[in-house]
Amino acid sequence: MKVFDKLYIGGHWVASTGGEWLDVINPATLELAGKVPLATIDDADAAVDAAAKAFPAWAATPIAKRVDYVEKLAAAIAENAENMAHIVTAELGSPINLSRQVQLGLGVGVMSSYVDIGREFASRPVETIGNSEIHHDPVGVCAFITPWNFPLHQIVAKLAPALVAGCTVVLKPSSETPLTAFAFAELVHKAGLPAGVFNIVPGPGRTVGERLCSHPAVDMVSITGSTNAGIRVAQLAAPTIKRVTQELGGKSACILLDGAPLDQAVPAAVEGAGITLNSGQVCAALSRLIVPRARQEEVIALACAAAERVVVGDPTAETTHMGPLVSQAQQQSVLSFIHKGLEEGARIVAGGLEPPPGCERGAYVQPTIFADVTPDMTIAKEEIFGPVLAIMPVDSEEEAIAIANNSEFGLSGGVWAGDAESAKRVALQLRTGQVSVNGGQFNALAPFGGYKQSGNGRELGPYGLHEYLEIKALQL
Ligand code: NAD
Repeated sequence: MKVFDKLYIGGHWVASTGGEWLDVINPATLELAGKVPLATIDDADAAVDAAAKAFPAWAATPIAKRVDYVEKLAAAIAENAENMAHIVTAELGSPINLSRQVQLGLGVGVMSSYVDIGREFASRPVETIGNSEIHHDPVGVCAFITPWNFPLHQIVAKLAPALVAGCTVVLKPSSETPLTAFAFAELVHKAGLPAGVFNIVPGPGRTVGERLCSHPAVDMVSITGSTNAGIRVAQLAAPTIKRVTQELGGKSACILLDGAPLDQAVPAAVEGAGITLNSGQVCAALSRLIVPRARQEEVIALACAAAERVVVGDPTAETTHMGPLVSQAQQQSVLSFIHKGLEEGARIVAGGLEPPPGCERGAYVQPTIFADVTPDMTIAKEEIFGPVLAIMPVDSEEEAIAIANNSEFGLSGGVWAGDAESAKRVALQLRTGQVSVNGGQFNALAPFGGYKQSGNGRELGPYGLHEYLEIKALQL
């Protein structure tokens, strides 16, 4: 069991003023995985004060030196990757190989990417527009509110560009996965970041989170989470005109056009980076598979065969591809969507309400596939955040595009065709922040973020840095 007994505020490990604990449950065993102190509103205020006090000196630190800290942090995560991968697995249930390769791999990769991005940014000549010189300043004190599905990556994707830009930070991690955040905070402390540049206050969104979003000394809030939380954060931030970036939910579609290589496209929708990745708890998951009606039965056969191959079980086993969901609450939520799918008349072709064989204990759900899903069904509209794929048959390319775009979300998408040009032509018509063309892989340098109710702003790569910068024009 992993126990962290102090908050990290102003460069010191300090006791919570409330003296209460946050228990973290291992979703595979339902046993206690660890605990952290629960921060109070007073602790949140102390963390903001520390970040505000640290801001002037950090903003004035040469960018090259700030980038050196980012480089040090990337190396520190890499050195501690194995230990941290086990922490992620214990609190999230992510299979150990996924924890190593993606949870930690992405954390190291994204942190490292900002070393190059920061150095490139520092070496750029000052832009001029007519008689003006354009300069950049850090936004200021940032509050980061993060979810549990990629507990390290979600922190790093915000923190790395913020540090390069010269911002100081208060982090409120998810209450499901605070152990990873604390293990990371230990690395920050060891890396010798100046006191107050990074602070961590775990606690409920409703108390600690809301205090950070309304605190007058916070200049920016970046939240990754559900759409409802994103709305509340923006409302609380509005009276003090904070900058708000939101990475929110999704209900992304993958379109298979006539001529798409089904033998590649369908397994990719289920296995590997498909709907079973991280037990479907991926905001950009392609959870709707839109297929030519004449080929639906072929798609179903391939999808069911792929679901059969997914090894579900103990996340500490090297061969497991899919572990449990993050919690029993999440398990119940996913099961209620499966129930709804059955009730509304979708045809279940794989999985269902029973636990996977041998996984009766723990927050497990079977990889589940529905066919003949129509746009009006709940499972076609709402984000499930679980291993549930909705196959939707259509009669034309136009209908496929219309259905893909018929969503209040707009985070991601996919298109497969017989040739790359046709796939790209359709991809350009999707109202989403990213689209994978004929199986194009995730790129950790490409801007990531949503259209519509999937959010505002972009993370990752050079675009991610700009979110943390104010722009100043000097008229000469
Ligand atoms: P959640 O909204 O329940 O929680 C996210 C964070 O917001 C947590 O730290 C939580 O404590 C905090 N929070 C909740 N209510 C709050 C409030 N009123 N004020 C301030 N903070 C508040 O989401 P979750 O269950 O942790 O994560 C799943 C959701 O996150 C899904 O909807 C998923 O799509 C989304 N997500 C989006 C992305 C993306 O990049 N777009 C990435 C991962 C997850």
